[in-house]
Amino acid sequence: MIRFEGVSRRYDGLDAVLDVTFDVPAGGLCVLLGESGSGKTTLLRMVNRLVEPTAGRVLLGGTDVATRNPDALRRGIGYVIQSVGLFPHRDVAANIATVPRLLRWDAARVAARVDALLDLVGLEPGAFRHRMPGTLSGGQAQRVGLARALAADPPVLLMDEPFSALDPATRRTMQAELRRIHAATGKTILLVTHDVEEALVLADLLAVMDRGQLVAAGRPLEVLGRDAPGPVRALFGAETLAFHRLALHPAAVLARPDKSDDGPALATGASARDALMLMLAVGRDRVALDGDPSRTVRLADLLDLP
Ligand code: ADP
Ligand code: MG
Repeated sequence: MIRFEGVSRRYDGLDAVLDVTFDVPAGGLCVLLGESGSGKTTLLRMVNRLVEPTAGRVLLGGTDVATRNPDALRRGIGYVIQSVGLFPHRDVAANIATVPRLLRWDAARVAARVDALLDLVGLEPGAFRHRMPGTLSGGQAQRVGLARALAADPPVLLMDEPFSALDPATRRTMQAELRRIHAATGKTILLVTHDVEEALVLADLLAVMDRGQLVAAGRPLEVLGRDAPGPVRALFGAETLAFHRLALHPAAVLARPDKSDDGPALATGASARDALMLMLAVGRDRVALDGDPSRTVRLADLLDLP
């Protein structure tokens, strides 16, 4: 769906992005991860032509974006940024309706779309339709920003550190909401973050940038393998890489029949890392699955994980 082909961007003497090649398949949620200044934003903005490559090309649905009219291109791509950028003097409904109005949808269709999107992002339409941006919390504003980006139903969503300004609890909620919305809409999403935990929560595909170059790309378990390259180890912490990797294995896969266990149980959907944390917290070498005390995850089995 999105293809970067040998893409570079040079700013007098500095390679902000250097010879990056990778694909984001249709319907995928790809996280672009890297330290500040590694070239993530520059790469992302080449998709909607806010930045032009100095070499290589970006294909969207098989077409070089350089051949597309920039305004038409951008109307087909949702774009969400950290500061949200809502128009302060327009209410929530008018903000969300920005692109549909540019596309000259009739008023009834716009109104129905606004309400459907408010529902989708978890804001009650009756309560939020006519609120002004200045009266919203950070999390609510970010939800409106997401609704606005989705308004004309673009197949592609670009998100640049969308949750970085939110407090930790709101941030975790929004990450879960984004996974839900991604599953519900099937959008192709390219999301930039410098936060390794966020990357692991969200990514189907992980692309790691270091000083303008792509140093790893693939499924998170592949990227975080024991043979991960130096920049990936540095980003995740050389001594905590294995711990992060545990978070990618569902605990339920490891569970085996055992004599019934009456200790605290693992929550549904818990990872092998959660299992280890619970074992450490309660001082046991095995913990049961929630709802099934006859199956446990054992400490020794964690050592066999790839
Ligand atoms: P990230 O999003 O990973 O933090 P950026 O893509 O914003 O990184 O920037 C990558 C590098 O390119 C940085 O060193 C930045 O200073 C530089 N850079 C980005 N935009 C410009 C610009 N318009 N002019 C000059 N240098 C730039
Ligand atoms: Mg950036």
